[in-house]
Amino acid sequence: MSADRAGRLQRLGSETFDLIVVGGGITGAAIAAQAAQSGLATALLEEQDFGSGTSSASSKMLHGGLRYLEHGKIKLVKEALHERGRLVRRLGTARAKTIPFLLPLRGSSSRRLQLRFGTWLYQRLSGSLALGPRSVLSPEQVLQKVPQLRSEGLRGGIEYYEGVVDDTFLVLELVHEAADAGAVVLNHANVTGPLLTGGRIEGVAFRDLLSGTESTVRAKSVVNAAGVWSRSWAGESRSPPMRPSKGVHLVFRKSSFPLSEAVVMEAEDRRWVFALPYGSLVVVGTTDTDYDGDYRRVRPQRADLEYLMSTVEREFPGAKVRPQDIVDAYAGLRPLLAGQGDTTSELSREDLVYVDPSGLVTTVGGKLTTHAAMARRTLDRLGPSSRSRPLVPAGPKEPTYSGRPWPGSDWLLGTFALEPPARQALVRSVVQEAVQYLGPCTLEDIIDRRLHALNRLEESFDGLIEEISRTAAELLEWPEEERLHQCQNYREHLREYEQETLRFRAPKGGSA
Ligand SMILES: Cc1cc2nc3c(=O)[nH]c(=O)nc-3n(C[C@H](O)[C@H](O)[C@H](O)COP(=O)(O)OP(=O)(O)OC[C@H]3O[C@@H](n4cnc5c(N)ncnc54)[C@H](O)[C@@H]3O)c2cc1C
Repeated sequence: MSADRAGRLQRLGSETFDLIVVGGGITGAAIAAQAAQSGLATALLEEQDFGSGTSSASSKMLHGGLRYLEHGKIKLVKEALHERGRLVRRLGTARAKTIPFLLPLRGSSSRRLQLRFGTWLYQRLSGSLALGPRSVLSPEQVLQKVPQLRSEGLRGGIEYYEGVVDDTFLVLELVHEAADAGAVVLNHANVTGPLLTGGRIEGVAFRDLLSGTESTVRAKSVVNAAGVWSRSWAGESRSPPMRPSKGVHLVFRKSSFPLSEAVVMEAEDRRWVFALPYGSLVVVGTTDTDYDGDYRRVRPQRADLEYLMSTVEREFPGAKVRPQDIVDAYAGLRPLLAGQGDTTSELSREDLVYVDPSGLVTTVGGKLTTHAAMARRTLDRLGPSSRSRPLVPAGPKEPTYSGRPWPGSDWLLGTFALEPPARQALVRSVVQEAVQYLGPCTLEDIIDRRLHALNRLEESFDGLIEEISRTAAELLEWPEEERLHQCQNYREHLREYEQETLRFRAPKGGSA
């Protein structure tokens, strides 16, 4: 165990904190960063690695949610657009990109009018924080911009702008911010239950998954930001009911699916699916289906892959994209609040801060884009009901997004598009930085989050696993036996995670 991790465990066991945050996804990381920067003694505990839950499986858009206007959610969309605009500015162009989105217009005249009006309203609601102009295009202009698109029934298009971000790096940035402001942050720390005295929550019990040691942490307030897992550790009665929805994405290389701007497609069931240029890659997603399996084992399944692939094939006949071109696929669960609605896509994307009688504060729902607003709302609820003075006196601050460089000189170029010497230097700097601050503990932490690889099915990837493991072993002082063990674990994780995608990609008649 690193001296740093031992020191953090020691502090957790001996200090009384103002706030414990359970769950190191975007919500927990934002709350911990804002709390620590507001002067609260904060602890952040994450069961696996920071960002390893839903927050690394998003569509990577900073957006207001154009389609929620169809459900009349004007207030929700307006807030998200406001947060989008502020976040894109604060992150700066090195970390958040602004890109054009193309919405082809097809179908009946009333549907086309509805989409024209919807995008007009979206632009109006963005106000001075709009990321670019909205333009109405002719069919010829649409095809000039995206020639591979289906021309049949095309009656024009709308172009508008949204933000794109690396979701995982954004989480890690906020965890860094929390740690820099004095918070004790610990991954691989599974919170097993609340500590209650006279019915009031006074801390949590947790297990250090690396050593197996059980321990407790005490605090004046506890926030549950465990997303779809909120009820698993806190108990059914202490947090609101959820209806998780599964979302899957496919990843292609731009060389096999050349796309210069994002395209909004309507799938056969009329849901919206996005094709998003993402550095040297193109990300296609997402599905939106009820999920009642094991939350830790959510995987892309054949039906998800077929749904997305058939949408791509139908909407981009000119691109001739094949299943063999898929270089990665990933799945995540939306932490949606249970409510009215036959399908999960009709459920509200609103967030909720719920305080139960023990004082446990649960924050769920929302979006990556609105994390700062969710954190503000959560911190506003700490204290007053249980104390005479609020815990955060002057109103919570915002994370500063301090400008710590993200991996690579320009992450959108794609870490793995780099040539070997540059890539090795990058891997070294990422591992060094992570060791110093957040302690990646496994090869999976390093590859899937700290480097955020999204090309894991490429043939050359196996060689990269070897290369990265050698750098990690050197910096993390893994003996050769441990390095081999880490490589084996990672390969098994990858095979198990991507097994359906591998089968789906295999040429007909061949084997995976
Ligand atoms: C397919 C999909 C696409 C999306 N696309 C977008 C998008 O483009 N833009 C956007 O703004 N939003 C998007 N979202 C929504 C957004 O990703 C989520 O709202 C957000 O990531 C939820 O973050 P979270 O921190 O609440 O949950 P999570 O990221 O799941 O974090 C919860 C954390 O709690 C940890 N945890 C669980 N139990 C315990 C325990 N007992 N002890 C300690 N830790 C524990 C978990 O390991 C996990 O890391 C998308 C969501 C999905 C599923």
